Parts: sequence; C-alpha cells; structure tokens
Amino acid sequence: MKYLPSLLTAVMLFGACQAQDPGSTLRGAPNPEPWNWTEAQVRSAVEQVRAGRDLTPDTWPNGARVAVLLSFDVDNETIEGLRSGSISVGPLSNGEYGSRVALPRIVDLLDQEDIPASFFFPAWSLKLAPHQADVVQASGMHEIAVHGWIHESNSILDAITERRLLSQAVDALEQLTGVRPVGYRAPSWNFSPNTLSIIREMGFIYESSLMADDRPYELLQNGEPTGVVELPVEWILDDAPLFNPLGDRYSAPREVMQVWIDEFDKAWEEGTMFLLTMHPHISGHRSRIIALEGLIHHIKTKGEVWFSTHADAALYVREFAGMDN
Ligand SMILES: [Zn+2]
Repeated sequence: MKYLPSLLTAVMLFGACQAQDPGSTLRGAPNPEPWNWTEAQVRSAVEQVRAGRDLTPDTWPNGARVAVLLSFDVDNETIEGLRSGSISVGPLSNGEYGSRVALPRIVDLLDQEDIPASFFFPAWSLKLAPHQADVVQASGMHEIAVHGWIHESNSILDAITERRLLSQAVDALEQLTGVRPVGYRAPSWNFSPNTLSIIREMGFIYESSLMADDRPYELLQNGEPTGVVELPVEWILDDAPLFNPLGDRYSAPREVMQVWIDEFDKAWEEGTMFLLTMHPHISGHRSRIIALEGLIHHIKTKGEVWFSTHADAALYVREFAGMDN
C-alpha cells in the first residue's frame, strides 16, 4: 500500500497539535476533511505504527505473576520551558527542583526498598545537572534511557533533524553515564512519521511511548513485525495530568495512589505487566512521594511480583518470544 506523505504528515501534525493544544484542530493540515478520505488513506494512517503480537511471557522471573516497571521521566527544566524556547525563570526553578531535591528523594526510596527502576532523561536535563547520573547509578540496579535532546516535539520535526537530535542525545547520555541507552521514550509520547524508522536504525531494543495495550507487544510498521518491543504507557498511569496544582484536574496524591493500586491489582489478577510513569519534579514533593511509598507497600504486600527495569523486562520478553534468534 502506497503512502501519501503529505497526508501522513498532516495526520501526525494534527496529533501533535492535539496533544499539546487541545483547542486547536487541523492547524496546518492540507486535507482537513477525513470524512472524504479514501479507504486506503484511512488504513495507511493507522497502519504506519500498529500493535503486533502480545509478548507477555507465560511466567516472569522467579515465578512472579506480574512484572512491575517504574519509569521516571526526568524532564526538569526541559519540560518547564526549554522545549518551547521559554526562559521564564519561575517554571525553570520548578524544573530545577527535580534534580536538586526530587530525584535524590525518589532514588533514596527505591534504594531503601531495593527496587530497580528506569530513568528516561532528555539529554539537556542531565547536562544541566550531571550529578543526577551518580545518584541514579550509585546502587548499580537502575537503568538510564533516552527521552530526547531537549524534550523537543519530535512529531513536528523533519526526519534529518529528529535523527540528529536523538543521535546526539544518545551520545551525550553515554558520555555522562558511561552506558549507551538501549531504550527510547518519545518526548510527549508521540511519534513523527519517521520515529519508528529512526529507532530501528539506531538499534534500540525497546520503545516505551505508545498505548495500544497494557501488556508488552511487538511494534508493526506498515503491517510488518519490527523486532522492537513496546512497553506501553498510559495517561492514567502518569502523575503529570492529575498532579497539576494549577490545572482543573488536580487530584489529591492519596486518591491518585488508589488509581495506581487498582491498576496494579488488575494487572496482578491478569498476570501481565504494570508500568507506571512519574516525573521527579512532580512526584518527588513531600506530599506526593507518599503515593509512591504507599503503592510500593501495597505491591510488596501482595507479593509474587517481579520489579524490573524496562531494559531487563524487554530482554526477558524478547528471549521468551525468540525474537533475538
Ligand atoms: Zn517527558
């Protein structure tokens, strides 16, 4: 099936605008009448990236019923201004709280609980506060993965720029941490028409930005298996929307914790995977880390759980599915 590049670009632009500015629709889209699209146009839009086979293994390591993957997107100043070119001092200070206070507080908790986690850094977040690498790496059990260069909106970039930024981000993280990232999470959880091809070229073993399942799955590109493991995310399982004290969706941390607990309990019943995304500068506050502490306590009480980095989970499901053969 042939692609219509301008149409696909328009679709992705629409998605990007929707994610960042719900009030604007179809801005810049050359064909804003999807009710007039052909069947081929609709199908090509959805088939550019689609969910393939379920990769949930029959058993997790140690006979665990469920894998628990804790993500921390260490956005800091990149999300509090830099990604949009804003140099407003107040929000930037809110981002600095992430590296100065929140990340150490979170890592202390994880290390006390002996729980591995994955930390997704925009390169500039780590370049601005390189001590974060020491904090994360001290225990030797956490993963550092890549989350863009400056939390750029990759969904509106051309392929050359997107590839250059991701390549230099990976190089920067390797230089600052001594380890080359094997996992990718798209800034703002969106793809451009080129993102999947770029992450395949760069050899990432997993991707963690999409939402087609609760379970790990293989990504398809135009209907073909890619060998890329998707570890799916979900806005329900993210601290940012519900913890915004300036927004109209603010929820108390203990209420948010209950949502996470309910999601975990169902994952436990189903015997699949629970993946939670948090942001240090959001969840690392004193009144909020209580939600993470409570969740960890609940999970440990339930038992039969495998806490894992995203990389180790991806390697495990790849091996179980015979993907590296
Ligand atoms: Zn982010």
